[in-house]
Amino acid sequence: MPEANLKPEYLVGVDLGGTKILAGVFDDKLACLGRSKMSTKSERGPEEVVERISRCARDAVDECDLDFKQVRALGIGAPGAVDPESGRVIFAPNLQWQDVPLKKLLEKQLGTLVVVENDCTSATLGVYEKELQSKPRYMIGIFIGTGIGGGIVADGKPYYGSNGTAGEIGHMVIEVGGPKCSCGSRGCFEALASRTAIFRKLAAAVADGKKTILTDSLGPDLKDLRSGDLRKAIKKGDKLVEEIVEEAAEYTGIAVANLINLLSPQVVVLGGGVIDALGEEMMAIILETAQDYGMTGATKGVDIVASKKGDDAGIIGGAVLARQQSK
Ligand SMILES: [Zn+2]
Repeated sequence: MPEANLKPEYLVGVDLGGTKILAGVFDDKLACLGRSKMSTKSERGPEEVVERISRCARDAVDECDLDFKQVRALGIGAPGAVDPESGRVIFAPNLQWQDVPLKKLLEKQLGTLVVVENDCTSATLGVYEKELQSKPRYMIGIFIGTGIGGGIVADGKPYYGSNGTAGEIGHMVIEVGGPKCSCGSRGCFEALASRTAIFRKLAAAVADGKKTILTDSLGPDLKDLRSGDLRKAIKKGDKLVEEIVEEAAEYTGIAVANLINLLSPQVVVLGGGVIDALGEEMMAIILETAQDYGMTGATKGVDIVASKKGDDAGIIGGAVLARQQSK
């Protein structure tokens, strides 16, 4: 292809997770043209991870038969506290990162504009731009996976708060003296309803002598348990799993009620691996609990919905960031 034809018109969105890196190539209308996936291998240190992000992004572009020179900008969501201005990851416990200049390092390797954002803020923007046709002024995204994160859209823009840490929905305390959380506090939403919390509760119940069909296939220590296994067990009538998942859904409903009381959004979108796998089992309970606990009138007319974008919300959000910053 002649050099002159390589117009930088495409966007790359990256979702950097504790276990995997996802990259997608998008056109200006946010249609996904191709994607790539790679394990993060955070134990090898930031330099190696940055190298892998570059490789994953290049693979996705190559997959679409494009040249990286045709990429206008790359947006990436990182799991932790981020300074979007400087593009530094200040603290990312899942990656064991402290003050990593991600923007600078990636720009050096890829030669294109890089925009860095918190992963849940990025995923919230992805859902907002691609999934919510109504473009509400106020919206909350809640992502339930290994941990729980969130993002807030106010007046159509991400809301960061005074020091950039707004949206730490997973660390709202909703049970006094509840289980210990990864943040050091107790009774956080994340410690009660994340995949980690559900698995921990199930393992404790099994150790306590309670019965689940999951031990038949996975053994007594429930090795390699996945969210999808929980759905299958419930479908087969497993009462213990059903009870634990319902409890997680109730806590989620309470968290949603608190957020609606506080922020009065038009839409609350739930996403992440747990909702992807167990949305059918959890959404009705989440809705009902949110309505029960929400202040009279506050929940009226608020849409509480599951995201249909699944894992893609993060990479779409990355593309949205890239598009915003490179216009
Ligand atoms: Zn916490």
